[in-house]
Amino acid sequence: MVNLLYQKSITELHDLLVRREVSAVEITRSVLERVERVEGTVKAYVTVTAEQALATAEEVDAKLAAGGDMGPLTGIPMAFKDNMCTKGVRTTCSSRILENFVPPYDAAVVEKLAGAPMIGKTNLDEFAMGSSTENSAFFTTSNPWNPDLVPGGSSGGSAAAVASGEAVYALGSDTGGSIRQPASFCGVVGLKPTYGLVSRYGLVAFASSLDQIGPLTRTVTDCAMVLQAIAGPDERDSTCAPGPVPDFNAALTGEVRGLRIGVPREYLAQGVDPRVAGAVGAAIDLLAAMGAEVEETSLPHTSYALPVYYLIAPAEASSNLARYDGVRYGYRAARPEDVVDMFMQTRSEGFGAEVKRRIMLGTYALSAGYYDAYYLKALKVRTLIKRDFDRAFTRYDVLLTPTSPTLPFKKGEKTMDPVAMYLSDICTLAAPLAGIPALSLTCGFVDGLPVGLQLMGPPFGERTILRAAHAYEQKAGHWRRQAEGV
Ligand code: GLN
Repeated sequence: MVNLLYQKSITELHDLLVRREVSAVEITRSVLERVERVEGTVKAYVTVTAEQALATAEEVDAKLAAGGDMGPLTGIPMAFKDNMCTKGVRTTCSSRILENFVPPYDAAVVEKLAGAPMIGKTNLDEFAMGSSTENSAFFTTSNPWNPDLVPGGSSGGSAAAVASGEAVYALGSDTGGSIRQPASFCGVVGLKPTYGLVSRYGLVAFASSLDQIGPLTRTVTDCAMVLQAIAGPDERDSTCAPGPVPDFNAALTGEVRGLRIGVPREYLAQGVDPRVAGAVGAAIDLLAAMGAEVEETSLPHTSYALPVYYLIAPAEASSNLARYDGVRYGYRAARPEDVVDMFMQTRSEGFGAEVKRRIMLGTYALSAGYYDAYYLKALKVRTLIKRDFDRAFTRYDVLLTPTSPTLPFKKGEKTMDPVAMYLSDICTLAAPLAGIPALSLTCGFVDGLPVGLQLMGPPFGERTILRAAHAYEQKAGHWRRQAEGV
């Protein structure tokens, strides 16, 4: 039964606040008490900002008492992935190199959520490189459904916080699947918006042509509300799209009759756990029974998404991460011999193994003599992948696939095998390469573990995928089930 404050959705809490049945402080206390109870097991947070959260909640209550305006997210406690800059609160990217970095400014999304009590900053794979949070330099987050398993990654802390009741919602970032795969593993809703819908000002860059910020929530309605709050133009991010933001909530009609859904066969081919395929198949049947027109289709360049991603993302990362040299901010090696030695020691000591691997892969792919063969070739194939989607969206409103080919896996299971780890993003890599929106939501449970379904739409097609996801969610009802491992 959903009855405790920390278990409720944004919409439920908002109604309670509007009716003055609870205060923002009471809600925030409930969430903070939950953090105290389960954080020892879940380890979702790098930094908990309890005092700041309560202070914001008090301000909100005072404003409400004075008859002030109240937005849909006002007073609802939440969390930011620790790669989003928060003024005065350390922002580590779960890396030694930024362990003590305190930003002098807020990210655009942090500004936009100013009335929300921030519970803390959540754990991630170092610089968002990974699929399990095991690449965090600090500790691994646990899956709230079973603490022996990973929560997915790289936004594993955000997903686990929402699933365990340690935040009502959270923001994550997604470059190749880092919102959707952990959402799937933790049984919550995760949306990677269209490239350019949400400002990345103040998001620590990983791969700038792919990175997007998006919500992790318990319900699709909540997802639409958070997206509404964070979307929109920002002149400080030149890749941010101009123009008005549509009304996402108005798209949630509960109807999918006549909606054309394509199921690309490449995503249900070998490598997908039959139990995952089974749950996705049942969701397809339900959507068809609800009146959607479901059809098998093909995205022929799908198999190139992994190699293309692992050239482009590391290439951009090697360039973005060049700024961590010990000169301006972050960690600096203690006793360097000279300035070059300082760069070398700082970076050797400050970065973890996966980040170093990416920097080396990217530097290699961009170096003279290999640039054309690897990086430029990858850009061309990226266009072919994008064209697959352009073609598909002339026939279909939405494309449906599993989010992850497997169920959440055991901690340690894939840490020695980077390629096996990379393969857990096989279904999520193409959407960022094509710049399109994609959402994950729970479509069933196997052995007590959630299975995620992915819905992809055309650029700026968030309304359509939210509508489909919402209608499905209301019918299927999986969102009601609470994580059972904590
Ligand atoms: N797991 C993928 C990677 O390791 C994607 C990460 C992400 O989306 N930030 O690069």
